[in-house]
Amino acid sequence: MRLNGLGVSPGIGVGRALVVTRGSSNLRFRIAERRIPKELERLDAARVRSRTQLEHIKKRIASAAGAEHAYLFDAQLLMLDDPMLVSRAASIVCEERVNAEWAVQRALDEIAAVFNDVEDPYLHERKGDLHDVAGRLRMNLRDEKGGARDLLQDLDTPCVLVADELTPSVVAQLDWTRIRGFATDAGSRTYHTAILARSLGVPAVVGLHDVSTRIPPGASVIVDGETGEVIIEPDPMQRLQAEARATLLRAQVETVRTTDGPLETRDGIRISLQANIERSDDVETAIAAGAEGIGLYRSEFMLVGGPPDMAAEDEQYHVYRQLVEKMAPRVVTIRTFDIDERQLARPLVDAALDARWFSDQDRERAGHAGLRGIRFGLAQPAIFKTQLRALLRAAMHGPMRIMFPFVSSLHEVRTARLLLDECRTELRARGLEPPDVPVGIMIEVPSAAFTASLLAREVSFFTIGTNDLIQYTLAVDRTDDRVSNRYEPLHPAVLRLLRQVRRGAIREGIPVSVCGEMASDPVLLRLLIGCGLTEFSMTPGAIAIARRVVRETHVGEMARVAARVLTLGTVDEIEHYLRGAFGHPEEMLK
Ligand code: PEP
Ligand code: MG
Repeated sequence: MRLNGLGVSPGIGVGRALVVTRGSSNLRFRIAERRIPKELERLDAARVRSRTQLEHIKKRIASAAGAEHAYLFDAQLLMLDDPMLVSRAASIVCEERVNAEWAVQRALDEIAAVFNDVEDPYLHERKGDLHDVAGRLRMNLRDEKGGARDLLQDLDTPCVLVADELTPSVVAQLDWTRIRGFATDAGSRTYHTAILARSLGVPAVVGLHDVSTRIPPGASVIVDGETGEVIIEPDPMQRLQAEARATLLRAQVETVRTTDGPLETRDGIRISLQANIERSDDVETAIAAGAEGIGLYRSEFMLVGGPPDMAAEDEQYHVYRQLVEKMAPRVVTIRTFDIDERQLARPLVDAALDARWFSDQDRERAGHAGLRGIRFGLAQPAIFKTQLRALLRAAMHGPMRIMFPFVSSLHEVRTARLLLDECRTELRARGLEPPDVPVGIMIEVPSAAFTASLLAREVSFFTIGTNDLIQYTLAVDRTDDRVSNRYEPLHPAVLRLLRQVRRGAIREGIPVSVCGEMASDPVLLRLLIGCGLTEFSMTPGAIAIARRVVRETHVGEMARVAARVLTLGTVDEIEHYLRGAFGHPEEMLK
């Protein structure tokens, strides 16, 4: 079977499917034979924990509301011991060699089918209890130490990850050296999944709609990140050919990963390329790729999948300090948490967000344009200030800049700076003397872009986040595959806004860089240089090619191209003109 999607990270990946659905709550994968006893132990431990929890709840309810209400939980306790559930799940683990979470889900589906067939109102009522019990078992399997997270680190064969939506929490749990490629239902070119795939150098195809339900776990899969094709159960010949091509492509990628000297265009204009990273161990990759600094550290990724106390000041301080020390003397730009609850999966949400900071209703309301970035920081000053103090302390160990995300007004910037001043005072009271850290903002909301000249007076730098700026300017959700084809970096509105932001920054004499994915596209990079932009930050994997593009670019020529582009009215006209101006994109790299 063949499926077609959007290739977002080049290369060919061949392996067995590891299926992940609904965030990290439903992991489905085949386990190695030697893992079976361990998996059975996990299942039993989850049953024991579930029993203890249910008995505890029963006791609490009995003392608060009376024994007659507490008996409701007896049904659940009985279900926990019913051979149709846990014992059946155990045989599924042994017979089909699948992980315990998935086996519980399968056992639940079987019993639910029986309940559906019986016209008994009592049994129908019990269905809710059954789902609760299975949910509790899965929760206990997930939260358990040595659980799914460890298992994911111990996969048997090279895998192709197949997911509905690849949340950062799953990403953080995986052993990427074993993942040969991935395919997702959702996604577009700039979706975080794609960004990660490119930084990890893993071939990826996204926007496949229902791939996660069509590929059975353990199936043999080929992912072609160039053509956007996914082949399920290929014949042996196809598989051999794909493996040969995969090896060849990997070798080619290695040869372009070379760095040499300061970077200038053909007409001698200095261009700086920095790296966007999500994990502190990406620093080595960034340096190897020739990054002159870290232009964007997406700090929210360090919360994901980690222990809840990652939100503590000391924990954060150690991560930031390590980052600046490893990168010194190059600068590291750390973005404060751009937490978007929808992107975050259960571990963090359970551990930190909904338990302490958010009600379920808050979480429902929050979307991509919800309580995120600087808004989140200002709404939760204690959390925000903890991060700011950790950042100021880390700045004592190497060059660093602090950057606020998702700014939409000057008022927010001023309020955030006041909190930063308070943090400085608090640290002084502890006998510390943090240095003056440049404070900048991301321009990724149209209101910030329109007021760039006002904002530029009060911050030290701008970083244009084109990923968000494009989606909010064009009202296109970049994670929604139904409209992702309308996500147009070359839309005249986007280009005009970029020009306006650059002008605002230049007028006030502050540096401006571009850190959205737009900069890692060779065609768009040339155009951005033509628009007068000289600093870019991108996924490390894109730097080698960007360096070649920069060296082949003549700013004078590109400025003329950009000036003409800015007079055109539609994306088609712009693309047509650009094709004529510098040939087909692939040609540019020859
Ligand atoms: C952006 O919006 O362009 C950006 C770099 O931020 P993120 O992709 O992390 O939202
Ligand atoms: Mg953004």
